[in-house]
Amino acid sequence: MPTDSAERSLHPDRDGLNPPAEARARLAAQLLADLDMHHARVEDLPVAPPVDPADLRTRVEAVDLETPGELDTTLATCLGLLADATVHTTHPRYFGLFNPTPTFAGVLADAAVAAYNPQLAVWSHAPAAVEVERRLIRYFGARAGYDPGRVAGSFTTGGAEANLTAVLLALTRAFPSYAEHGLRALPAQPTLYASTESHLAWLKIAHACGLGREAVRLVPHDDRLRLDPDRLEAQVAADRAAGDAPFLAIATAGTTGCGALDPVEQLADVCDRQRLALHVDAAWAGALVLSDELRPLLGELARADSLTIDAHKWLSVPMGAGMFICQDAQGLAETFRVQTSYMPSGEVDDPYLHSIQWSRRFIGFKLLLSLAMIGRNGYAAHMERDMASGEALREWLGRAGWRVVNDTPLPLVCFTHPHFDGPGADEAHTQLVAEIQGRGTAWLSTVRVRDQTAVRACITSHRTTEADLDILVEELELARRTVGVRR
Ligand SMILES: *Cc1c(COP(=O)(O)O)cnc(C)c1O
Repeated sequence: MPTDSAERSLHPDRDGLNPPAEARARLAAQLLADLDMHHARVEDLPVAPPVDPADLRTRVEAVDLETPGELDTTLATCLGLLADATVHTTHPRYFGLFNPTPTFAGVLADAAVAAYNPQLAVWSHAPAAVEVERRLIRYFGARAGYDPGRVAGSFTTGGAEANLTAVLLALTRAFPSYAEHGLRALPAQPTLYASTESHLAWLKIAHACGLGREAVRLVPHDDRLRLDPDRLEAQVAADRAAGDAPFLAIATAGTTGCGALDPVEQLADVCDRQRLALHVDAAWAGALVLSDELRPLLGELARADSLTIDAHKWLSVPMGAGMFICQDAQGLAETFRVQTSYMPSGEVDDPYLHSIQWSRRFIGFKLLLSLAMIGRNGYAAHMERDMASGEALREWLGRAGWRVVNDTPLPLVCFTHPHFDGPGADEAHTQLVAEIQGRGTAWLSTVRVRDQTAVRACITSHRTTEADLDILVEELELARRTVGVRR
């Protein structure tokens, strides 16, 4: 017979792991009510509350991790922490960095995924979830112009992982010995190409996969901040003449800083001539494939070997939900192949054999549920509205004497004020943004454009209305005067 204490250790009280039904129902209802209240009042909070790091750490340390506690009090404490010390990306006047107010369907889907906790490494463990993701990848591939029968790819944690996948696939395709012997075995240094305006995850990716950061050749942009095809071709030729091995070019369809749309067709022509793979990083603006009217802005995506589209940006599902999309199932299988004795395998493609992740969360559900609720046309209308808001903001800024310094139809506006021209202009625009952030009524940021600091405002939340744009505009005028007086 086991002793009492052995009994306890073999059969610990499981209430903490799974409270009784009544407590579960009460806690879940409480959380929903709290979230609803937060949704209603976030507008009254400072978009970016000031945070004292020492005070915050003290509050975090105060959560007792040693002894069992009451979930409702800890939950309340932690929701308080989130409310007090988070940039409220769900605020309608968050004009920020592509972090959306999430769709309600997406929030519900993420909760359902957490509860079912399907394991998507192999098809046989989560057939329903894997098929949902396959359908979505095929759907977005087809909307981008790929042959639906050939579309391959996977959901990723985000754009950075999708872009890493693009590099690994392109290396595997371009250099047959890379898979077994690595980059060291190659006679020449592989190089890849993106614009100086591209997302610099490329540097981390090159570092991580052993190419080295210098393998990323950042090609100067043209006068519209787009990757210049002629300069790309010249750089590729020069590198090849110097003994390097160019293998991949990246077009960014909607750059992070300025929303520039690289000319995909012309870049595809260069890649054809120079025998390079082409990846289109459309992490943010790739959502436009859902709109028949706006899709042409992205260029002929079907000419790219692979694509990155983030659903957690313009499609407004909760983070993280990236997509890597290509037409080379065989190449992916070659890149991520592995054999184990312990993984169950089946006749159908297993996700862990064509992507970098092993254990996989059901990322696609929040996109499926959102699309099913909003509809492709609903999403198209949402993006068309954002485009119109961006246009309205550009017009207002122009009328009020600001100078728009980026060149894009997308709802991302970078601007400066001639009032601050001359020495100290960068500092003045930095101060202006700090002034607005400090007041807490709106959030926008700075960005470097053509070696100048500009103010950057991106229509990011589906909760943003015309009234919010009016407030932004007032805030800009107010801050401009305040900073102007101080100078
Ligand atoms: C956001 C972004 C990325 C990185 O994506 P994450 O989802 O943040 O990993 C890559 N490229 C572009 C153009 C982006 O805007």
